Amino acid sequence: MHILIIEDDIDLGQATLAALKQAGMSVVWVRKAAAVPGLLAEPPDAVLLDLGLPDGEGLALLRGWRARGITLPVIVITARAGLEERLAGLDGGADDFLVKPFAMAELLSRLGAVLRRCARQASEQWRFGDLLVEPRSYRAWLGDTPLELSPREFRLLVELAKNPDSVVSKSVLGQRMEPLGEPLDSATIEVHLSNLRRKIGAGRIRTVRGVGYQLLGQSEP
Ligand code: CA
Repeated sequence: MHILIIEDDIDLGQATLAALKQAGMSVVWVRKAAAVPGLLAEPPDAVLLDLGLPDGEGLALLRGWRARGITLPVIVITARAGLEERLAGLDGGADDFLVKPFAMAELLSRLGAVLRRCARQASEQWRFGDLLVEPRSYRAWLGDTPLELSPREFRLLVELAKNPDSVVSKSVLGQRMEPLGEPLDSATIEVHLSNLRRKIGAGRIRTVRGVGYQLLGQSEP
């Protein structure tokens, strides 16, 4: 297991580093947000992220990753002050959180749970006839052929695949495809939808005029 700690507090950083190493993990500890981008070239198995960093908000880092489709597990570490607002700001982007001060045993137990959960989700697959979608790893196949989808096309596919029994409206798709920014407008969604149809087959997505779209052909797992 390889863990990245992003924490500016020296005492807490050192204690966390020592606890994780003792638990047999390989650990990199950085104290600034600016040190992070190069470290993601070889993604860690999980990140411990302090929200209050000297050169920016941890939250901005987390949002940036999620907006780019980086799904690595993140446990947020936060002070109790302003906790409600901070958690509200996470938008579901964190896999778990810990409030300072915390016991190292608690951290290890949360980390283990998050890693197990993410490993399960990584192998989760949804099947629609010969179309296979692996949401956590951002991969999809048509038969044996991997699909080359843009991040937005993939997000669109996942949002439709999540709701196989229902028609999903354009406004819902617009919000879910851009959860942290301005919802996508109707014309943009149609462009992505048309590209997605070209790649997976037009007949797989049903249009219900004035209502929305539905992905067809889910088979029993
Ligand atoms: Ca801090």
